[in-house]
Amino acid sequence: MLKGIINYSHYLMKEAVQEGDTVIDATCGNGHDTVFLSRLVGTEGHVFGFDIQAEAIANTRKLLTHIGLTNTTLINDSHSNFLHHMPVDKLTRLGGAIFNLGYLPGSDKSVITRSETTILAIEGIVSHLKQNGIIVLVVYHGHEGGDKEREELMRYVRLLDQHQYHVLYYGFINQKNDPPFILAIQKRH
Ligand code: SAM
Repeated sequence: MLKGIINYSHYLMKEAVQEGDTVIDATCGNGHDTVFLSRLVGTEGHVFGFDIQAEAIANTRKLLTHIGLTNTTLINDSHSNFLHHMPVDKLTRLGGAIFNLGYLPGSDKSVITRSETTILAIEGIVSHLKQNGIIVLVVYHGHEGGDKEREELMRYVRLLDQHQYHVLYYGFINQKNDPPFILAIQKRH
C-alpha cells in the first residue's frame, strides 16, 4: 500500500533518526509533527521547534503539555535563525528536520513560509546534519504565494551535489487541486 503524504514524511524521519538525536520541527503550526518528533527521539533526545507565529507556538506548547512531553524547546522565531537558538552540543547530533510549508491551518492565510527563508534554513541545516541525517519537506503549494516557493525550492534542490546528498521527490501525480508532495534531502557523508 502506498503511504499518504504525512505518513510517508514520518516514515522517512523514522528511518533516518535515532533515539537520542536532536531534531528540528521547522514549522510547528499546531504541533502535530512536534509531538511525533518528540516521541521519536525519546527522553535522551531533543526537539527544537520553530514558528514565527506566537499562536502556533502557544498551540504546540499546549499540546505537548497536555500529552506530557518535555524534551522540546519551542522558539518563536524564523527557522532561518535556528543557529542562534541551538547549543553546539545539540547540533553535533542533528539527525533530521521537518518542514510543513504553507500557512497555519485555521489561521491567517497571508502568513506563509517563503522560499528565501526556507532555503536559508535548509542550507544551514544540511551543513550541520550528521551522516545519513535527513530533511523532509512537505510542500503545500496551492495557496497564494505557494507557486513561487515551490519553483524556487525545486530549482535549489535540483542543484544539490548528488555525491553529497540524495534528493527524493514523492507525490501523487493524478490528484486534483495542487496536492502536497514531499522533498527529502539525505546527507550521504
Ligand atoms: N506542522 C504543522 C502542524 O502539524 O500543524 C503545520 C505547519 S503550517 C503548514 C506552516 C507554519 O509555518 C505556520 O504555522 C507558519 O506560521 C510557519 N512559518 C512561516 N514562516 C516561517 C518561518 N520563516 N519560520 C518558522 N515558521 C514559519
